[in-house]
Amino acid sequence: MTEAEVRGLRESVCEICKKMWRLGWVAATDGNVSLRLSNEVFLGTPAGVSLNDVTPGNLVLFDRRGKSLRKPSSEIKMHLRCYNERDDVKAVVHAHPPCATAFAIAGRALDDYSMIETVLTLGSVPVAPYATPSTDEVGDSIAPFLQMHDALLLQNHGAITLGCDLITAFHRMETLEHWAKTIINAEILGGAKSISRDNIVKLCELRGQRYGITGRHPGYCKAN
Ligand code: 13P
Ligand code: ZN
Repeated sequence: MTEAEVRGLRESVCEICKKMWRLGWVAATDGNVSLRLSNEVFLGTPAGVSLNDVTPGNLVLFDRRGKSLRKPSSEIKMHLRCYNERDDVKAVVHAHPPCATAFAIAGRALDDYSMIETVLTLGSVPVAPYATPSTDEVGDSIAPFLQMHDALLLQNHGAITLGCDLITAFHRMETLEHWAKTIINAEILGGAKSISRDNIVKLCELRGQRYGITGRHPGYCKAN
């Protein structure tokens, strides 16, 4: 990768971080973002810095063992677990968006299959069991779900999304938060109406062929 390419990626991480902050997905120094630059080198947000204040210069390079010259995000182990478990993952986004996090703190998976768009894109979103932030516990709690899911809720914490590039991981977080917000609104109106099993199967068949949607998908199943 050339220096100019790395510079471009640093700028795109900053742009995504600022969008996340503006969307209200993080408060104070919440949230973190990382990218795989090569099999051995990763680029991520620094620890304890508001995503609104991330600059191309304060992003941190780290290796597979989490070694870096400056202090990386405290959740580096969670990010590295995603890269280690999935070769196709090139970017990871972690945030505490208020509606998705409401599901996470209520311990409620998003698996009602009532919105066509989310059946096509994400499938079900499970809740990974409680884990102490920054420790290996987080990686261990998400690992069983990583093969089938690109979006996860973290019990009592927030959400994480994975992608083949940064914009894909960001869009998955955007879809997840929009879905959670819509379900909360539907509950005020008496609850979402589920799509029939036959129609869900049809949508799952169409996602690749008709819409070109890629990414892991659990098919028709309850998340947890
Ligand atoms: P960092 O500032 O260390 O990235 O931590 C934020 C966070 O969301 C922890 O879960
Ligand atoms: Zn967090």
